[in-house]
Amino acid sequence: MSTYEPVIGLEVHVQLKTESKIFCACSTEFGREPNENTCPVCLGLPGSLPVLNERALELAIKVGLALNCQVSPRIKFDRKNYFYPDLPKAYQISQYDMPVSSKGYLMVVGAGFKPAPTPPHPSLSPSEGERAKVRGRRIGITRAHLEEDAGKLLHEGIKDGSWVDYNRAGVALLEIVSEPDLRSPEEAFQYLVSLKAILQYLGVSDCDMEKGSLRCDANVSVRTRGDAPFGTKVEIKNMNSFKAVQKALAYEIKRQSEALESGEKIIQETRLWNESKGETLSMRSKEYAHDYRYFPEPDLVPFSVTNTRIDEIKKSLPELPQVRLERFQKQYGLSEYDAYVLVSEKSLADYFEASASEKVSPKMLSNWIQSELLALLNLKKVLIQESPVKPKDLAELIRLIENNTISGKMAKDVLPEMFEGGKSAEAIVREKGLVQVTDTRLLEEIAERVIQANPKVADEVKSGKAQAIGFLVGQVMKETQGKANPRMINEILSKKLALSTRGKA
Ligand SMILES: [Zn+2]
Repeated sequence: MSTYEPVIGLEVHVQLKTESKIFCACSTEFGREPNENTCPVCLGLPGSLPVLNERALELAIKVGLALNCQVSPRIKFDRKNYFYPDLPKAYQISQYDMPVSSKGYLMVVGAGFKPAPTPPHPSLSPSEGERAKVRGRRIGITRAHLEEDAGKLLHEGIKDGSWVDYNRAGVALLEIVSEPDLRSPEEAFQYLVSLKAILQYLGVSDCDMEKGSLRCDANVSVRTRGDAPFGTKVEIKNMNSFKAVQKALAYEIKRQSEALESGEKIIQETRLWNESKGETLSMRSKEYAHDYRYFPEPDLVPFSVTNTRIDEIKKSLPELPQVRLERFQKQYGLSEYDAYVLVSEKSLADYFEASASEKVSPKMLSNWIQSELLALLNLKKVLIQESPVKPKDLAELIRLIENNTISGKMAKDVLPEMFEGGKSAEAIVREKGLVQVTDTRLLEEIAERVIQANPKVADEVKSGKAQAIGFLVGQVMKETQGKANPRMINEILSKKLALSTRGKA
């Protein structure tokens, strides 16, 4: 075990799904012409005044409540001063000492689970080896505060200088700051998955990292294991996926541990993650709060939210992932792991429930979604909510397996056709004559033939080597061109070889 222990805290910026910006009426629509969504307020023209978007505040409170935070009795905005061309006012309206909410926590759901076999959705970890060591750990949330986003600088393909697009300037952001409670890159990854799931369930953001509506910076230090004081922390920026956060943290922990090992000192600084090189590079020395000369925003007065309003918002909260996880186990008898995979992406859980309402085996359904359907969706790069195989269609396919019309093996060939051609399972089964052979007499005949033809294997089975029966089952399947029911063959063969229900019946 390494002598050094990492201490990690994450800052997540979430673009809130409001129609207009946080302090003006400009549209937040993505993909408009550069600078189309601007006005004197978000361009910082003299004499213009900000007005708080009430919807942004409501969404921020929702997130705070879902993260078990206290909504601050008094809410205030402050100016964070710094100069950068993407910030037309040369200050950002943010919150310094009276954020919307603070002192909450998040249960990291699913830490300790084996990740899904194939990445069913980009946020889930693909590799087997990445198991976090703890399960359902509680990670503190320091605060969640509102602020405005900055514009975007465009450098590519521009010969002389850079251009700036202020469409994003003034879009509502919620910055969610965790306590330095995370202890491994895997746990940081799981924290992000859990947080994103909550945000999606709340419907407060589209959480699209590619569009920049979810961004994450990480603070990481290492200390001698078991030591109380924290080491010097380094901030990492520029990670554009959860995987990248995990990789950057792993790199940085190794770098810091090696530096300490060789007697170097860690400098407090900001480092940029370079995805193609797989390393972090020093960007600048870290700023401190006093560098920003925070002061109260004079154009927005502090205010309070009434308890009645907070209660109203609390009542409007939907079922959250943690609760749904428990319900899935209870209501559908799913394993904790299966429930976790389904629940960690809202659209996946919704699909499952819509399909389960057709009264098919939830366990079987969960398996089919997690293996066959997600593999197809990944292959064709289709989101589950746009799946050509609708929840009802999948339930129909499973019903055909349940009532022995087709075998699971046949169904695996039927599903891709449903996916491609939009035909129903029943139609495909009928067209291809895929009906399962369930004629016992016929199967018994074939089984007898197979036993005669393979006396050695038959003897092995008789002498107690039960697993040898698999070969015989395979032979019967072959004779029936895969149309027999493997369970029936197994029973017939077992009975013939006097294996079957010995001691049971
Ligand atoms: Zn504006």
